[in-house]
Amino acid sequence: MKLLVTGGAGFIGSHLTRRLLAAGHDVLVFDKLTYAGPRATLAEFESQPAFQFQQADITAAEAVRQALANFQPTAVFHLAAETHVDRSIAGPAPFIHTNVVGTYTLLSECLTYYQTLPPSDQATFRFLHVSTDEVYGSLEPSAAPFTESSPYHPNSPYSASKASADHLVRAWHHTYGLPVLITNGSNNYGPYQHPEKLVPVAILAAYHEQPIPIYGDGQQRRDWIYVEDHAAALQLILEKGRSGETYHVGGNSERANLTLVQRICRIMDEQHPRLGGGSYLDLIQHVEDRPGHDSRYAMNFCKLERELGWVPEHALEEALSRTIHWYLDHREWWQALLPTENAS
Ligand code: NAD
Repeated sequence: MKLLVTGGAGFIGSHLTRRLLAAGHDVLVFDKLTYAGPRATLAEFESQPAFQFQQADITAAEAVRQALANFQPTAVFHLAAETHVDRSIAGPAPFIHTNVVGTYTLLSECLTYYQTLPPSDQATFRFLHVSTDEVYGSLEPSAAPFTESSPYHPNSPYSASKASADHLVRAWHHTYGLPVLITNGSNNYGPYQHPEKLVPVAILAAYHEQPIPIYGDGQQRRDWIYVEDHAAALQLILEKGRSGETYHVGGNSERANLTLVQRICRIMDEQHPRLGGGSYLDLIQHVEDRPGHDSRYAMNFCKLERELGWVPEHALEEALSRTIHWYLDHREWWQALLPTENAS
């Protein structure tokens, strides 16, 4: 297949790209290369003939149109987004622009492209939109995990912008007949995640012998999924998912943030013992909570298991250990993304 991947220089998009190339597909990564999408992440693909890259913005209709016309994709994976909740609180405008207007622009251009395809290509065309569990808002401690029919209740500018995008995608299916798939995934971790996100923040603060910040009491619960499991699910949903449907993708690994960070500290104690002795646990420092912080997300992904036979393959502790090993082994990648005082 010829697969266009928006946001392919980002964390999940780069793992998906690696997987699609390994499966023998042609891939065009369409990415603006924001602070979250470093060119270095794409370096390993650049010599592969099946890989193409276009640096462009999903809000630029003409650039999207040209990419579709020139590459003639069989399907589109849409991952490009502004993704960091804290940044969305400090400055929501880019989140509305990229996540809402950008998704609208892509939908609009993909529909025009789809309408020009012969019926046999229309039958296989898919627009797969990658979204998040955060669109559902916060779960009570004893509540059952979110299902695909849970009501939307986004609480942050980030989750509200993703929820808006999900609604647009669904509308383009129901109103115009664009064959879409929507996935709502839980919290990802793994190699190539930007150092501003919780797991790398904890690893790199420990590495630098700096305080490891934990919002509030650290009892916010998240379901954690290894990024390679998420990429595998996206590929399977594109190939076998039913057009117009939403699929949840979860990791079956719900943990409190504090528990997760403590686990990271213990693995760091084994992989990279502190020079002065003692445990990295001593560096954990509680800081003022994020405004409007959701207390719990959890995903019911039985539909994906029942319909497509997917389950996550990686256990949290083993994959977390592998992730920490990767960060310790790839300093040059994350150093380039850190504020200069930490780039050592
Ligand atoms: P990321 O922040 O690591 O990467 C985002 C990518 O999008 C970057 O390469 C960036 O350059 C690109 N981009 C941003 N704005 C763009 C624009 N206007 N035009 C073109 N490219 C642009 O994000 P991620 O963590 O890999 O997430 C990918 C997708 O998966 C997002 O849609 C996100 O909402 C969703 N998601 C993420 C998680 C998670 O835990 N990381 C969980 C569920 C869903």
